[in-house]
Amino acid sequence: MKEPLNYTELVNRLAYKEGRNETIVLLVGAINARDLAKVTLKPEAREALILGLTHDNAKVRWWSLQLMDHLADESFIPFILPLLNDPIGKVRRHAVHALTCDVCKPDRCGLELSKSIRARITEVAHSDADARVRKEASAAVANWGS
Ligand SMILES: [Zn+2]
Repeated sequence: MKEPLNYTELVNRLAYKEGRNETIVLLVGAINARDLAKVTLKPEAREALILGLTHDNAKVRWWSLQLMDHLADESFIPFILPLLNDPIGKVRRHAVHALTCDVCKPDRCGLELSKSIRARITEVAHSDADARVRKEASAAVANWGS
């Protein structure tokens, strides 16, 4: 007997290293970057990942961002933005990364970012409390050119 997948539970499981790869495959249908670029997310998986961004456990927030980085779906952007204010630097840095990185995305094609989002990331580059977050944001700003 096969039980239907509980996507919320799968997202919760991202907190644990053990079985994480299997969890990711069940959740989004792929594990490596090339395959992730081609997946079509189930609506339930998409919703669960969005909820993962507000999970109490920072590891779950980080991994949700990690998957979104590769899935490169512009509809995730409004949900990623609040994580630029996450209490955990590692999570803030990955939020910047997911928004601005081209390399992980299909055909190295980055997300289309509005002027106001670019301005917000520029602000992060100047004023985030964590040097690693500022560095990630500065690299993105430099990449856009002047
Ligand atoms: Zn990336």
